[in-house]
This record gives sequence, C-alpha cells and structure tokens, in this order.
Amino acid sequence: MNASFDVVIIGAGPAGLAAALYTGRARLKTLVLEKGIPGGQILLTDWIENYPGFPDGIAPFDLMENFRKQAVKFGAEIVADEARQVENEDKDWVVRGAGASYRTRAIIIATGSNYRRLGLPNEDRLIGRGVSYCATCDGPFFRERDIAVVGGGDTALMEAEFLSKFARTVHLIHRRDKFRGTKILQERVLANAKIRIHWNAVAEEILGQDNVEGVVLRDVKAGTKSTVGVEGLFISVGMIPINDIVRGLVRLNEWGEIVVNESMETSAPGIFAAGDVIGGASHQVSTAVGTGVRAALGVDEYLASR
Ligand code: NAP
Repeated sequence: MNASFDVVIIGAGPAGLAAALYTGRARLKTLVLEKGIPGGQILLTDWIENYPGFPDGIAPFDLMENFRKQAVKFGAEIVADEARQVENEDKDWVVRGAGASYRTRAIIIATGSNYRRLGLPNEDRLIGRGVSYCATCDGPFFRERDIAVVGGGDTALMEAEFLSKFARTVHLIHRRDKFRGTKILQERVLANAKIRIHWNAVAEEILGQDNVEGVVLRDVKAGTKSTVGVEGLFISVGMIPINDIVRGLVRLNEWGEIVVNESMETSAPGIFAAGDVIGGASHQVSTAVGTGVRAALGVDEYLASR
C-alpha cells in the first residue's frame, strides 16, 4: 500500500486537473492517477477556440500543460498508474492501481469518455486502414482523397470542416435532415464547397479488404441504397462514459453516466465525479473545469464534515 491521501482523483483531463488545483489549494493531500498522458481527450483536438480567456485560441497541449503545472504547483501529486478497482475499507476507500494501491478518504472520478462505434462488421478490422475516430490524428493522411464523416453533432461538423482542408471531397453522412451541432458550425459546413451532405442516410456497410474503399449508404426515408467511393471514414457519433471502475458502486443513468448531485457527489459517500463521465455533461473543457472545481469544493466540505 502506498501513502494515504485525502483525495485520489482518477483521470488527469480538464476536470481532474482543475479539481486537483482546488484540492491542492485546500491543503488536501491530493493524488491524481492517469494511465496515459495528462490532458485527456482534448489532446486529440487540433485547436481550442472556445475556452474563455484565449481570444486567439490555444493548442490543447499548451493549455493542458498549464493545467498540470498549476495543479502540481499547489501540491497535487500526479502518478502514471491505471486505477483498476475501488474498494471500501473501514471508513476509507482503497484505489487499486496496476502499480500500487492507494488509501484515501475521498475520490473524484474524472475518467472521461470514449468514442462510440457504429458497430459495422468491417469497422474494427479497418481501424487505421481508413476507419478513424479522430480527424486531427488521421486527417493529414487523406490529402486530395475522397473521405466520409458520419454524424451530425458538433464533433462531426468540426471534423468535416477540418478534413475539408486536406480532402478533395468530404461526404457528410447524417441520419436525419437536421444537424444537432451548434449553428455556427452548421453555417460553416453548409457554406463549404468541398463538403457534400447526405441527409437521412446511414452507413450500412464499409467496403474494402485491406483498406477502406467505399461506404454503402441507406436512405432511411426512401429505403434505397447507394455507394460512395471513399478512402477514409471518420466516425463521429458521440461518446461512451468510462465508468468501469465504479460500476456496481455508484448509481449510473440509462446511458451509463455517473449520477451526481449539485456538489458532484455520487450515490456512494466520499465518491465524487466530474467531467465527461457524469450525467448531463456538455463535453466542453470549460464545463469539465466547472464540474471538477465543484467536485473539489464538495470533497473539501465532505471531509470537513466527517
Ligand atoms: P453528439 O452531440 O451526441 O452527436 C452525435 C451525433 O451522431 C448525432 O448527430 C447523432 O445523430 C449521431 N449518431 C449517434 N449514433 C449514431 C449512429 N449509430 N449512426 C449514425 N449517427 C449516429 O456527439 P458529439 O458531436 O461527439 O458531441 C458530444 C458533445 O461534445 C456535445 O455536447 C457537443 O456539443 C460537444 N462538442 C463541442 C465542441 C465544441 O467545440 N463546441 C466540439 C465537439 C464536441 P442524431 O442527431 O440523429 O441523434
């Protein structure tokens, strides 16, 4: 067993690091566990232009490096370890990691979310061979190629616009006749001559043996099928909360998101949650920060009342 902590924060994305800054300043002995690079999913984006305070935008890595430094400056310890299990022991909690176990009086779950898949037969097999969930990571491989994006939310619209800088044509495939994404993103997509929108269409089959060669679309209204020849298929159909570590321990909603109260407290005493893993998350850095800070304040109040 490693040292004991007042609070263990699981996940070093915007929510986890913002929480760590506040628990550090509250002089709570704070440990942040992160299995990858601190920064979270936002590191997969190329540029942030909607985090307040940066009118010219900022590179996600720079922003998150500042988050990390600020949390460490106020005493948070960040350890590279994967939290695998949470157990109740006496009145405390024990977080079992891949490398060690950590005893703590409170926990903040800030594990974020993962990309949702379409569940098509060829989808997994062709990942990295044309199927991608991250335009920033893989877009530059498709210079002057024809590609497709599936989805109608903010991510799909942003990715379609970003990919249009590289690709010859971007086929944007959406299952309804109205986008879900923000109006300004819709306007940009509709005005972009390189983006061709397929309304009321679902991707039914991914064609290709070794690499993506095309997508079979089904018109959900007419029932007709058509094929578009593309070399890349970017799937942007939402996120799945990463809740494994607390499944069975705290209450989850129908989408598997952690249910929290206004203090970000879960149904288990001493376990708080913040960021993309909680119900109603808006998947923004700024809102993740807000819930992370609220969780930290909640932990402070909880520990003071114990
Ligand atoms: P989202 O808003 O949940 O949108 C998912 C999209 O995928 C929807 O258009 C949905 O269609 C479609 N979809 C879901 N399952 C599908 C399936 N099986 N087949 C075909 N289409 C499917 O997810 P998101 O775009 O990833 O955004 C997640 C959150 O992050 C949102 O809150 C968003 O505002 C936020 N975000 C913000 C920014 C920003 O810079 N402001 C950038 C990215 C994301 P329907 O519309 O028909 O449901």
